[in-house]
Amino acid sequence: MSAKWPPEYDRSFVPPPESRYWSETLEIMDPEERDQRVIIPKLQAQLKYAYESSPFYRRKWDEAGIRPEDIRSLEDFERVPLVEKDEIRRDQIENPPFGSNLCIPRRELARIQGTSGTTGKPTVFGIGRGDMERIAEAHARIMWSFGIRQDDTVFMASFFSLYWGSWGALLGCERLGATAFPFGAGVSGQSDRSLEWMKEVRPTVFYGTPSYALHLAEKAKARGMDPRRDFNFRILFFSGEPGAGVPSTRKRIEESYGGICIDSGSTAEMAPWMTNAECDCRQGMHFWQDIVYSELIDPKTKRRVPDGKEGITVYTHLERTSQPMIRFMAGDIAMWVTDTCACGRTYPRLPKGIYGRADDMFVVRGENVYPSAIEDVIRGIKGLGDEYRIIITRERTMDELVVQAEHVAGMNVYQIADLKTQLEGNLRARGLRTTIQMMAPGSLERTEFKAKRIVDQRRLYDAITEKA
Ligand SMILES: [Zn+2]
Repeated sequence: MSAKWPPEYDRSFVPPPESRYWSETLEIMDPEERDQRVIIPKLQAQLKYAYESSPFYRRKWDEAGIRPEDIRSLEDFERVPLVEKDEIRRDQIENPPFGSNLCIPRRELARIQGTSGTTGKPTVFGIGRGDMERIAEAHARIMWSFGIRQDDTVFMASFFSLYWGSWGALLGCERLGATAFPFGAGVSGQSDRSLEWMKEVRPTVFYGTPSYALHLAEKAKARGMDPRRDFNFRILFFSGEPGAGVPSTRKRIEESYGGICIDSGSTAEMAPWMTNAECDCRQGMHFWQDIVYSELIDPKTKRRVPDGKEGITVYTHLERTSQPMIRFMAGDIAMWVTDTCACGRTYPRLPKGIYGRADDMFVVRGENVYPSAIEDVIRGIKGLGDEYRIIITRERTMDELVVQAEHVAGMNVYQIADLKTQLEGNLRARGLRTTIQMMAPGSLERTEFKAKRIVDQRRLYDAITEKA
């Protein structure tokens, strides 16, 4: 391992196609040895760099009495203070537009990306030229582990705008040497045209959100196409939503297209973001620890949780010079295990994926509810469509959970009533008391991006009753 930081990669390197690994030594190394020889040296260099170049971290760590040179082990690293999403947002409001964590002169930025800002002021990302190359390298290496090779054509049915996801996939595809087909999404009529292109060009890999893949399959079937026969996808990989890690959603995608479904993605603040990703064995996402060091911590004690336990995600860049995130608390919920995957990689795995996005979880009658659990139940029932809504209302002081689900076409009233009973029962078996509303096929709005399936009307109820 070269001691140089940030690391320099040979941009012409691509493994032979039959090789399972891009960086075999690193990927199958004994984890303890990898920690000592690779991760800790990279972490120390990243910490030193951030302390010297980022007023944001210098201020934060000085207040906490932390010096980079004091961090000599991964246990020591737990003393480094966590960074919250709101802190980054506030810092960018006080120091517009990039905050006090840019670390490189503005003229060295290759790219500006950002969040959509649907839940407040958008966060601005400035990415340096060197970082762009390292992100491409990381994504190529990880996409290789899904099984993507130079012969593949990657169809990207996702927005090319502020949204970082699509660009990260494109960078990885280009570095790997596969053929990129950045089709995009979001323009009127584009879904219909994408079906024609997918049929005509026969790309072998699909990238987008799980919601959109299901929507396209539904559209194709309505037009008399069979996505298994008319398209040619052998790999479909996803980010932006937890769906690809939800068992019944994965099953629907794989059955619709006849290819394998791969879950990937951490969070917008992290680039590379594919350092959470499944390999072609699909046993849960790996944490690619030597690129982004990832932890699961107890939300109350803030201590790292042991093997087999559930915690919330905390990410640390190990080779980022433009806006490094160090112990960034994304807050998504997952459970990790450390046994070696069938692929031979020794990275920790999330066998149940990320099953609670911090932003999506809601509380009903004092219980935490994860929409992905409801999604798993709905998509596990034959006769129900792919789309659904979760509406939370309040009757007097009690929270009410309403689930709207579509039945498929051609059902009679008795069959629809049976579906309703079955859905209610299966949700009750998961501890959820719900009111079910059966909807006609196609009546719920479809999305080309991340679906908004949760409608919380409780604030509206509170506002009305306060006035009265
Ligand atoms: Zn694996």
